[in-house]
Amino acid sequence: MNYKRSSSLFAEAEKVIPGGVNSPVRAFKAVGGTPIFVKEAKGAYLYDEDDNRLIDYINSWGPMILGHAYEPVVNAVVEKAKKGTSFGMPTEIETKIAELAVSMVPNIDKIRFVNSGTEACMSAVRLARGFTGRDKIIKFAGCYHGHSDSFLIQAGSGAITFGTPNSPGVTEGTAKDTLLAGYNDIENVTQLLDANKEEVACIIIEPVAGNMGCIPPTAGFLKALRNLCDTHNVLLIFDEVMTGFRLAKGGAQELFNIDADIVCFGKVIGGGLPVGAFAARNEIMNYLAPLGPVYQAGTLSGNPLAMAAGLAMLNELNNDAGVFNRLAEKTAYLHKGIAEVLNANNIVHTINRIGSMISVHFDDSEVVDFETSAKGNNDTFRAFFHGMLNEGVYIAPSAFETWFVTDALSYEDLDFTIRAVNTVAKTL
Ligand SMILES: *Cc1c(COP(=O)(O)O)cnc(C)c1O
Repeated sequence: MNYKRSSSLFAEAEKVIPGGVNSPVRAFKAVGGTPIFVKEAKGAYLYDEDDNRLIDYINSWGPMILGHAYEPVVNAVVEKAKKGTSFGMPTEIETKIAELAVSMVPNIDKIRFVNSGTEACMSAVRLARGFTGRDKIIKFAGCYHGHSDSFLIQAGSGAITFGTPNSPGVTEGTAKDTLLAGYNDIENVTQLLDANKEEVACIIIEPVAGNMGCIPPTAGFLKALRNLCDTHNVLLIFDEVMTGFRLAKGGAQELFNIDADIVCFGKVIGGGLPVGAFAARNEIMNYLAPLGPVYQAGTLSGNPLAMAAGLAMLNELNNDAGVFNRLAEKTAYLHKGIAEVLNANNIVHTINRIGSMISVHFDDSEVVDFETSAKGNNDTFRAFFHGMLNEGVYIAPSAFETWFVTDALSYEDLDFTIRAVNTVAKTL
């Protein structure tokens, strides 16, 4: 394929934007080469500036669960934009999307909208600290909760890909309040809680990890975490920025039947516009300003365009009883097809999958945490990534990312992808 125009656009971008990108995961640093510049997208396909068509398995890193330029969402945004794009005053649509979200997600009474998943997680932790009067938090190695200071400790995909697990600029003072546990390692969490009695405000977790490849929780892990939190009066925060409105209407809480104390959202909830949100029961949410003492604010929070996109997206998901099963079936079909061709070509691999999240690891050990995820063969991944791109299939340019399956993918697209894997596997 020809990437001439992408390459020259990247060269121009590099002069005025650090690394040529506004988010490091978009760079091809881990795989080599230059990023593809997108011209437009529709349904399951991206069209780049050189007019190549690519089947998209990133989908804006999750939001486009029904495909690109999804008409009900686009129409809602266009209609809203004609009536003004921001007021900094309350609008009815904020209540409409809040009511819908609260009705779809189990165990939440109130929700507040912000502008990104990062903001949602950062605010949720501040709320947990304010509510409990404690300072420390526990997070898991390889989990990503956005780029705010307390989370940039072994923070998964982007940070791992760039070899900066602990970012300079995060002070020691901040880092010391973040305790690190191994994913799926309940013993480790128990030890941390015992060693820091009455000091831990919250445990924050991706209930299905998606930022070190896709790693589902082992049986009973989330339940055991819930029990530990109850025993130690610690709040359990589910970061459902990736899993929310993706694994089920009610996200991971519904799928695993576990109640979290605070839930964070992003990605799908904004329908492709910049949105995040956090939610909890009344007792906790009423601790937020202006009702309570914990401060949190935003000039563009609840922005009408963002709310219109999110509301249209949630309405579609809420009214389509079959959507989550359809997504899971397509992903299972892809899993089976890829496994068959990789096996036929004797490529050592492990595939993790749950719902519409899937990742292919080039190693044969079970992938259950950051360490086992990091064992994957990077050279193989790099060759696989470029091979797939050349065949017209776009997966994330990092072995630590989940692929996101969209409902816009047809079975012909999935077969096309499996054939591409077969072609590429012969070259590995
Ligand atoms: C993407 C992501 C975030 C950060 O969201 P942004 O909108 O990029 O700030 C936080 N947590 C998880 C689990 C994510 O996948």
